[in-house]
Amino acid sequence: MQQTKRANFASKLVGSIRDDAWRGEVMRTILEKGTRPAESKTVPGPRAGEKREPRPGEVCKPSVCFSCHTTCEALVYTDEKTGKILRVEGDLDSPQTNGVLCSKGLASPDLCYNPTRLQKPLRRVGPRGSAEFEEISWDEALDIVAGKMLAYRDKYGPEGVAMLEGTRRGWSRVYSRLANAFGTPTHGAAGWAQCLWPRLIDDNLTYGRGIQYSEGQEFDKADCIVVWGANPPTSWPLRAAQILDARQKGAALIVVDPFLSEMAAKADIWLQVRPGSDTALALSMIHCIIEEKLYDAQFVSEWTSGFEELCEHVKPFTPEWGSSVTGIDPELIVKAARLYASAGAASLFRCLGVDQQHDSVQCCRATTILICITGNIDKPGAHIAPSRRGDVNQNTLDFVKEDLVPLEVQKRRCGYEEFPLLTQELSPVPTMHMPTFWEQVISGDPYPIPCGIIFGSNAKLIYTNSNVVEKALEKFEFLAVCDLFMTPTAKMADIVLPASSWLERNNVISTFQADMTNTIFQQKVEQIADSKDDTDIVMELARRLGVSEHFWEDSEAMYDYILAPTGHTFQEALAKRRLYAPIVYEQYKKTGFKTPSGKIELYSNIAKEKGCEPLPPYTPSFQSPGDTPELAKDFPFIITTGRHENAFRHTENRQNPHLLPLAPKATLDIHPETAKELGIKDGQKVLVESTAGKAYAYARFTLGLRRDVVQGISGWDGEYNINKTVPWGQYAAGVGTVCARGYLCRVTPVGE
Ligand code: SF4
Repeated sequence: MQQTKRANFASKLVGSIRDDAWRGEVMRTILEKGTRPAESKTVPGPRAGEKREPRPGEVCKPSVCFSCHTTCEALVYTDEKTGKILRVEGDLDSPQTNGVLCSKGLASPDLCYNPTRLQKPLRRVGPRGSAEFEEISWDEALDIVAGKMLAYRDKYGPEGVAMLEGTRRGWSRVYSRLANAFGTPTHGAAGWAQCLWPRLIDDNLTYGRGIQYSEGQEFDKADCIVVWGANPPTSWPLRAAQILDARQKGAALIVVDPFLSEMAAKADIWLQVRPGSDTALALSMIHCIIEEKLYDAQFVSEWTSGFEELCEHVKPFTPEWGSSVTGIDPELIVKAARLYASAGAASLFRCLGVDQQHDSVQCCRATTILICITGNIDKPGAHIAPSRRGDVNQNTLDFVKEDLVPLEVQKRRCGYEEFPLLTQELSPVPTMHMPTFWEQVISGDPYPIPCGIIFGSNAKLIYTNSNVVEKALEKFEFLAVCDLFMTPTAKMADIVLPASSWLERNNVISTFQADMTNTIFQQKVEQIADSKDDTDIVMELARRLGVSEHFWEDSEAMYDYILAPTGHTFQEALAKRRLYAPIVYEQYKKTGFKTPSGKIELYSNIAKEKGCEPLPPYTPSFQSPGDTPELAKDFPFIITTGRHENAFRHTENRQNPHLLPLAPKATLDIHPETAKELGIKDGQKVLVESTAGKAYAYARFTLGLRRDVVQGISGWDGEYNINKTVPWGQYAAGVGTVCARGYLCRVTPVGE
């Protein structure tokens, strides 16, 4: 694409005029001096209007939106007399979100009042999948679920009872704790090998277990920001605001994405990487930085080990080689490497675009090596360790009580030997390999898994290769599902438990994903019929399963326990709104790193011990036109299923009348020239087929993709479920990630 055409397209996409002269100055200054230009175009941070008092007859209750992991501070306005929620607004006092909420947050009252919301526990009375249920009491429902779990454990061992969960919603770790207290190794989630875990496992390999530099960032102080495999405007609005603010103040922005996303359209350098070749790009950039001696020699010598091996390893990965694999101009690779390495402080923000690669952890490792050799660790504007505010950390093996499952039982976990990074102690929460699990539910080999308990996961739609998952769900003899709505997965259940939304429960939020320095609190403001907080459901199940000694009386008692080291009860902390602790820089100078060498391991001894490559290799994708040419004759396009729409979160929110119209159809992004050759019109229904299955979508023309790449969106039901096309059988080494970013497909028009 011509540069001007690209710029025009970008302007149209993001609705703003590009400031090319100023951006040129930004890049020149950073290359020459390592810092932002002195004359910054400072803009006020994002704010959502003026602060106002509640209107007459209203009560304002501060809380935190948890419709996604961004956890934005929110003000919930209720009617003084009825207690009903009138509206939800952003909290202008929030040091983190400055009053901003996204469409999901603003539309969240519908989570409570949607007429299709589950209100009572249900028992199936018709054939499985018929959605014929009768209402029952909580006691009856929980007695049935616990009774079945105990009965199946007696008959098949704890591994015969699968405990599955969905995306993080505040109760996730206490549910993991229940799985461990109950004793099952058959515990997992759709997302773990596909989202965040590869980055956190990479941290554990490089810095030692529990040291998480990759997810902590201070964008406002960075001179250069790299956004790699992420589009925060649609997936993580807070990060988008922080990054774009920093850009406006003079930080250079490099975006790595196969698609000219909203974020890529704002980039000074857009690296349009061919899906599946991100590791090659990172290795080429490392090559340039070493070759041109742009690395931080002092930091490398004092705080890293394996640099010599790294230098030898990256010798073949020249920019020309990188270009041949990634499709990016070699000069642009060099330019990006120089800009990134020259910046005094740089931050590299990664997300699912790296997690869902065919070589996920190694792709993360390669990008982490970029961070480490440039010394961007634990200093302002670089990668930081979020402050610990004194509360009990739920993200530990200790909190989830991993030790309650005996080692010989852990070893029965699906994929235990083959995927040690996921299933064993290096994993943030050791978990089974999900494709192996689903296949085993069908085959019963090496042991049967007849009972499934699913909390907060629409498994039928959200797993890759969903045709197989659907078959497996049908195989369960007993299935219980806990959710807000009668999802396609809940329809298959024997017992359905009505969960609560974020507006109906308390919570303590204290992770890097929320805020680097503040612990914040969610406040219950509504009660919908007989729905219950998932944490309370966990406590009640624990009592019935005979493991209550590992739990608390109720959710509030658990929050008191979590906050006890801070000296506050939950109610006291809630009244304070935030518990603050400042960032402390250069912590490693006191503590070192938790690796065998005590340093950052560019060459990872831990990876080697686990049978993985100690330095990130380049391995081609399992399916690509260049590497599997025979397959490409039938399936000529590379597909990535990564696009998120801001209105939705995975499969959620399509029942919301305010959100569905924002993205009403399953789309397939496609280049107009490609579409023309295939006889496809903009908006026309198309069929996408792969080695795994088929799905339909509506063509959406974009100049922002290579002509051989198409992009789908997951989360849709039935024939529009693009996850049906994501193949299994080949997984990322050590961790078992399914490649959802860069497999092959064909696209044909259908006659609608
Ligand atoms: S970004 Fe997430 S937490 Fe923030 S308002 Fe939107 S849905 Fe809620």
